Amino acid sequence: MDMEWNQASVHEKMVTDPVPLIGEVVRIGAVATFDGQNEADRFSVCIRARFYRRINRKVKQVTGLGNESITYGISFPAAWGRFRKWCGEDCCILTWGTEDEKVLRANLAVYGLPDDDLPPFYDMQMIFARTEMHDSRQYSVSTAVEHYGLPLDLPVHDALNDAVLTFRIGTKLYLPNVIPDGYGELLRQIAAEQEEQQRKRCLVTFRGIVLENTDDVYRIRKIMHVRCPVCRKGMRHPKFEYVSERKSVTYAACEEHGQYIVMLKLSRCADGTYDVTRRIEAISDSRRDSYEQRVRAFAEECADDGELCVERITAPDDIDAALRLVRHTFEECTAPMFDPHGRESFRAFIFSGDIESGVENGTVRAYAARRSRHMVSAMFTRDQTHIILAFTDKEHQRQGCGKALLEAVVRDIEGREELTVNAAPSGYGFYEKSGFVPAGEERTEDGITFTPMKKILVCTGE
Ligand SMILES: [Zn+2]
Repeated sequence: MDMEWNQASVHEKMVTDPVPLIGEVVRIGAVATFDGQNEADRFSVCIRARFYRRINRKVKQVTGLGNESITYGISFPAAWGRFRKWCGEDCCILTWGTEDEKVLRANLAVYGLPDDDLPPFYDMQMIFARTEMHDSRQYSVSTAVEHYGLPLDLPVHDALNDAVLTFRIGTKLYLPNVIPDGYGELLRQIAAEQEEQQRKRCLVTFRGIVLENTDDVYRIRKIMHVRCPVCRKGMRHPKFEYVSERKSVTYAACEEHGQYIVMLKLSRCADGTYDVTRRIEAISDSRRDSYEQRVRAFAEECADDGELCVERITAPDDIDAALRLVRHTFEECTAPMFDPHGRESFRAFIFSGDIESGVENGTVRAYAARRSRHMVSAMFTRDQTHIILAFTDKEHQRQGCGKALLEAVVRDIEGREELTVNAAPSGYGFYEKSGFVPAGEERTEDGITFTPMKKILVCTGE
């Protein structure tokens, strides 16, 4: 059996009560067979459109039906009655694809006709793909006709012609082997495959992601673009929120399949890249509440009223974080005061990799100040006694971070007499207050202006 249907001219004009009328049936064509091999009879009826009386542009393109061609014929309830009578009591209906059954049920609902006594429907498109082509693609009627070398002597997208072609394909499919018993097995197999596919869609790991800053992960489109695991429709979502340092969540919804939680987890690999695991799970309101609580708890934990914690850092992750802080703060606070030459030469220094290798071979030491685990200030020294970098995050300046770091550096120095720094004009005041005195004239090298300063650590006189 095959049907043609018309659609609303625009989506907004679709009849939605009591169900969405996705297509209004205007033609029904069918071939009857008792043995699956021989035609017993044919059926064809034209139905007058009642809801969508102007032909939809796409429907016109595909079927060649014009406005006029849906003004004649009989009503849908009359046509349906005729078709059922023609079918007889004990029958099943074979269609190409599952659309016909869906559209038919919508039409019955709109006319208030019962749909609980329909004969069983079987999808021949699926049977063809599974048993003949051994895959899950949706082949067209004409592809299947060609596949079997059957004559394609009838124009397609005409209800009766398509029914005839579908019947011809059916003669090649050994349908009695499939219907009814094998069909259920095919459906179970498909359901299992879909479940497996969904499971894969719900849990994806993106490997080898290069991130300068872990927050950059939120700019990677393939990771941010999430689809409903069931229907694959794209879902928009608000920005991710952290529930712990490396885990964040957001929520997305599919109109049809409900609410999901999307979770990201970052793991740093030995080569410095990241593996990003994204998990999409259906979520209830109560579970969502508990996640939102975790988001709030973590935000509070990170809030800036925490104790300042200062320590020497050596872990590559920490060094990276400290250098990011340096680079970011330099651009934000210092670079605008530099001329282009100074800016370039300073960048060359902080991006050269020398600092990282200095840390590795022990000539450079790094110290960090954190508030509630969030790094807010960093200081690097060379040969223990020369400060090469000291930067405090813009929001945490003038809160004692620099002073605390300086104390940590001094505590860490063994048997040295002085601490030196080339103080930028903006840092001069801080070092002066911390007990440094000028050790030379202010000068400019490579575009960078500084005053050499030193602080005496040990009173040798005592
Ligand atoms: Zn969906």
